[in-house]
Amino acid sequence: MGTTGIIGGGIVGVALARALSARGDDVTVLEKEHRLAEHQTGHNSGVVHAGLYYKPGSLKATLCAAGRVSIREFCAEKGLPYREVGKLVVAVDESELDALAEIERRSTANGVPDLARIDGVGRLREIEPHVRGVAAVHSPHTAVVDYASITEAMAQDVRAAGGAIRLGHEVTGIRREDGRVRVTTPVSEDVFDRLVVCAGLQSDVLALLVGADPSPKILPFRGEYWELAPERIDLVRGMIYPVPDPRFPFLGVHFTRGVYDSVHVGPNAVPALRREGYTWLQWSAKDTWESLRWPGAWPLAKQHWRMGVDEISGSLLKPLYFQKARRFIPELRQSDLTRKSAAGVRAQAWGRAGELLDDFAVDQVGPITLLRNAPSPAATSSIAIAHHVIEHYLVNGA
Ligand SMILES: Cc1cc2nc3c(=O)[nH]c(=O)nc-3n(C[C@H](O)[C@H](O)[C@H](O)COP(=O)(O)OP(=O)(O)OC[C@H]3O[C@@H](n4cnc5c(N)ncnc54)[C@H](O)[C@@H]3O)c2cc1C
Repeated sequence: MGTTGIIGGGIVGVALARALSARGDDVTVLEKEHRLAEHQTGHNSGVVHAGLYYKPGSLKATLCAAGRVSIREFCAEKGLPYREVGKLVVAVDESELDALAEIERRSTANGVPDLARIDGVGRLREIEPHVRGVAAVHSPHTAVVDYASITEAMAQDVRAAGGAIRLGHEVTGIRREDGRVRVTTPVSEDVFDRLVVCAGLQSDVLALLVGADPSPKILPFRGEYWELAPERIDLVRGMIYPVPDPRFPFLGVHFTRGVYDSVHVGPNAVPALRREGYTWLQWSAKDTWESLRWPGAWPLAKQHWRMGVDEISGSLLKPLYFQKARRFIPELRQSDLTRKSAAGVRAQAWGRAGELLDDFAVDQVGPITLLRNAPSPAATSSIAIAHHVIEHYLVNGA
């Protein structure tokens, strides 16, 4: 299949490089940072989703189901931690029962293994002894992992198969030449037969370099976490999630017992003022201005301003955030929560009409394949996304 360049050393780019190099292909990954998994992949919740939420038949639904199994097998093969701590999606009152029934319907359609409907607080508390709620769905095979370690292990396979992973190589130029692609960084120049762009928060910037449609653009949403005091982690055995608001692509404030046994609460979803802006103080006039002048900005603001105000208030005022978390665990005290320094920034694609793209999205421009939307559960789905891209874009053509 000739030479393939991949931009982006997050889990999606590295999973693709691994799948290609396992076939004997000549692969080079170009990553601008000095280590892999520096952005979304190294700043996420570490959950291996079982596919409860996604629209049946969507790429998210099918690739998450296949990806979960592949990640589990990869962790077993490499001796990496993989813990099936299980997840409860909890309706705290009757008003959430219809939305919970929809999650149950989607989970069944998506083949979520061993999913169970739980009614009544007694049965709920057998699974999570401190939770409050009227009903829930329980997914016992939802798991937690360390995606940065998984990416490193995948990269070792790439190198062992003869592939190259070049860190500190920020792609600044892409030019099509006689059916091939010339890719430049400040320190290198290569010509590849094909190029795949897996650039997360920068995917729209690179799409412009390639001459692709400017839409969808990336809207960076920061997710901030709180951590439960070590002496209080027994309040949570696995994962406790709210019933999500179907109008919004994020899952709401939840509790997760991570792979190294700490319990985090979050992430919320506040606008990041820079693509890679991990705190309120990291601000880019250019990124903010570009978001504000996008045609979808005002329709989006009109539709979601209430949710935005609510999320921003919760980010700035701990008591408001605490009240949201306490809905699920009445024994929680405000002093149990400490702000975690590490936040994550989600690359959420949005269109010209202000719509937030729900499904994974891939574009093709000549010999260049672009991942335009790879938000959660793209870490879970990474190995399946790699096979999907190879099958539909690199081998058979789009
Ligand atoms: C707060 C949060 C929680 C999440 N929780 C989960 C979860 O529990 N489970 C799950 O499955 N998913 C989760 N996700 C989503 C998941 O992390 C992402 O979908 C996934 O990591 C995307 O991987 P990626 O490789 O596409 O992007 P990234 O990991 O962002 O990698 C893109 C890479 O491209 C590089 N790059 C960009 N521009 C250039 C350039 N010009 N030249 C060279 N390199 C470039 C960047 O430096 C970066 O390393 C979460 C995300 C966030 C932010």
